[in-house]
Amino acid sequence: MANTREVARKVVGQPTSDGAGVRMTRVIGTPRLDNFDPFLLLDEFRSDNPNDYIGGFPDHPHRGFETVTYMLAGNMKHGDNQGNTGHLGPGSVQWMTAGRGIVHSEFPEQEDGLMWGFQLWVNLPASDKMTAPRYQDIPAEDIPQVELAEGVNARVIAGELGGVSGPVSGVATQPIYFDIGLADDKSYTVNLPEGHNAFAYVFEGSAKIGAAGTFIQRGEMALLTHGTELKIEAVDACRCIIVAGRPLNEPIARYGPFVMNTQAEIHKAFEDYQAGRM
Ligand code: MN
Repeated sequence: MANTREVARKVVGQPTSDGAGVRMTRVIGTPRLDNFDPFLLLDEFRSDNPNDYIGGFPDHPHRGFETVTYMLAGNMKHGDNQGNTGHLGPGSVQWMTAGRGIVHSEFPEQEDGLMWGFQLWVNLPASDKMTAPRYQDIPAEDIPQVELAEGVNARVIAGELGGVSGPVSGVATQPIYFDIGLADDKSYTVNLPEGHNAFAYVFEGSAKIGAAGTFIQRGEMALLTHGTELKIEAVDACRCIIVAGRPLNEPIARYGPFVMNTQAEIHKAFEDYQAGRM
């Protein structure tokens, strides 16, 4: 039984900008990798130059999927057209289910210093695309940290690892989201649901991933084969996110901030947005 996951493909991101000129690296959601079911987009933003982030993301809509922001450093504030506001500080997560639609903005709450984190887009199944919007705003202190072995530490955002469960709940694709750090030469084997699509993105140092030990360095993402066990061995002290989700295997119609199943639904999303129905 091949229960070990291996690296099927290595992907590097490409520089892009979004919102009001925020510079970032897009790893999923590019011509190289349009999507990785159920994941539609992955951005890493990381800069200590305020010109790269100060414009933020003025009001914009979303419909049909979820946006997940994980902050490593820096502070953002969030607000939407239904009066919800929130603060995203270092180590916090916002899991936003846009469902049938929200219009929101995200702005830096700092004028200088490092801003670093990820935004991931997670698709919703057809049956949930028009669900009511929902926020899971999770401050850093509510994300469990676990020492998996000597020199191996993790933050568990979603899913179960080392006997602890992450705070994110009730998500259709049954996601896993771990942030794992390993000291030099340390290794660890993570258990993952066998049929989930999973990736590891290394954001510090370098590691050998999979039983075959494919070398992955900072800024590279490993798309993994299916299986239950994922081996990670640090080459230099490293840190990576490991993200997995149940594939939906549904048609994807996407245009900008709307991700539906058909072009007609995209057209309807534009109409609803323009008519102020989000
Ligand atoms: Mn947004």
